[in-house]
Amino acid sequence: MTNEPVRRVVILGGGTAGWMTAAALSRALAKTGIGITLVESEEIGTVGVGESTIPTIHWFNNLVGLDEARFMAETRATVKLGIEFRGWQGSDSAYFHPFGTYGGPGDATMFPHRLIRAWLDGAAAEIEDYSLNTCIARARRFTRPVGDPRSLLSTLGYAFHFDAGLYARFLRTIAEANGMVRVEGKVGHVEQDAESGFVRALTLECGASLAGDLFIDCSGLRGLLIEQTLGAGFEDWSDWLPCDGAWAAPSAPEPSITPYTQAIAHAAGWRWRIPLQHRVGNGHVFSSRFQSAEDARQALIDAMDGPPTAEPRLIRFTPGRRRRAWIGNVVAIGLSSGFLEPLESTSIHLIQTGIGKLLSLFPRANCDPLLAEQYNRVTQREIEDVRDFLILHYRMTQGRDEPMWRHCQSTPLPEALAQKIEQYRASGRLMLQPDELFRDASWFAVLTGQGVAARDYNPLLDAGSADENLQHLASIRAAIHASCDRIPPIQPAPARRSA
Ligand code: FAD
Repeated sequence: MTNEPVRRVVILGGGTAGWMTAAALSRALAKTGIGITLVESEEIGTVGVGESTIPTIHWFNNLVGLDEARFMAETRATVKLGIEFRGWQGSDSAYFHPFGTYGGPGDATMFPHRLIRAWLDGAAAEIEDYSLNTCIARARRFTRPVGDPRSLLSTLGYAFHFDAGLYARFLRTIAEANGMVRVEGKVGHVEQDAESGFVRALTLECGASLAGDLFIDCSGLRGLLIEQTLGAGFEDWSDWLPCDGAWAAPSAPEPSITPYTQAIAHAAGWRWRIPLQHRVGNGHVFSSRFQSAEDARQALIDAMDGPPTAEPRLIRFTPGRRRRAWIGNVVAIGLSSGFLEPLESTSIHLIQTGIGKLLSLFPRANCDPLLAEQYNRVTQREIEDVRDFLILHYRMTQGRDEPMWRHCQSTPLPEALAQKIEQYRASGRLMLQPDELFRDASWFAVLTGQGVAARDYNPLLDAGSADENLQHLASIRAAIHASCDRIPPIQPAPARRSA
């Protein structure tokens, strides 16, 4: 073991995780003299889905210096203002999980209590009327949030839908411009240090060898280094998250772009609909315990707006996480470190947090185990928080009685989630940890949408009468609708430049 600096980083994998890592490291390490090599195999290919993001994507795009207009043009991106959930409380139900907050500016935490109070007082206030993000999403309008905390536009938030293949290609140009080297080939053998177990080199099937000090495993669900070589172990969460397969297929683009993802509940899973500029991405996520792959495929084709424009593709996965994402000199980022499922579009976010943690804990060549411990501890907390938010959707579905949904309704909850739900029911409070990804507005939207009602609200609101509360709500509703009317409609995508 030495205290030498890392001189060579090798990234295994050129999917979204590999290229995001390459773009970020090639920029962050630019002046350090550390060489970065990425190896990928066209023969193996990538998972090729993962096209819906959450607003934290702006952090990453800024980190690698992406110009938003160019990024949108290159990746055929559309804006995403949230997710519409259809059918999760029975076939006619629908609710919207918006990015951004409810109510007026600066009122994110207290505003839900005003609505709860109004509902307990018997008022029929519609939750969607109190979120500017939801109103502009429904009206297909868009403007960017502003920083002025007094403006209603500060309550907005947005992310993107983009073509994952084009995103990877775009990031590759950035990483290569920063001096990163790409190697095409299939890794057939992993050379380890006999004493420390550290990975020393990857040997390609053509015989070439890629030596390194630090290896980033972005090899996808197989986890070639972290699992197949180092045996990290896997925690299987399929009791809580029953889906373990997905069919994905594109269809023709929409004439007028829907600025949100749709997640439509089905008998044994759910279906996504992600509008891009040049196509609509569709997918049916299903549980193989409750539906055969063939039936799931047919369910996707039957439900799509139009015929698939390419053969549907089947992807199988097991929801869960690697017990350790960093072992020795190997850090797993992306699907190799674990995967929950696509609901709430959190996987690219978890790639970003992996990259962020790697940068802040960047090791010397001896890879101090304390760094790995911290990385693994935070990674576990992050993915468990997201897991619990997803379980909430599956568990609280009173309107559905198919076998898969009945199974989910009766599965015991993780303790932290059970407590959160109970605390919300009892007091309207969302007891969140400071670093949890999903904040008050998200929990409030999904709890309400999934039929979980609070029995009380913050008593500080009793400083005003019930009528005053309703008047306040009416004024916020009017301000939101007036603001929505002033926001311009989304323009159709410009025609594609020919190459
Ligand atoms: P992969 O794309 O599988 O890439 C693995 C890479 O490793 C490839 O380049 C492959 O060639 C290479 N490789 C593997 N073995 C070798 C070898 N032996 N030699 C050389 N190279 C090798 N995320 C979201 O944020 N939003 C979503 O809407 C979303 N939807 C999803 C839907 C489904 C059905 C699934 C399964 C995932 C979804 N995800 C989503 C997750 C998202 O797709 C992934 O997080 C993202 O694509 C990253 O994948 P990856 O790069 O880790 O793996």
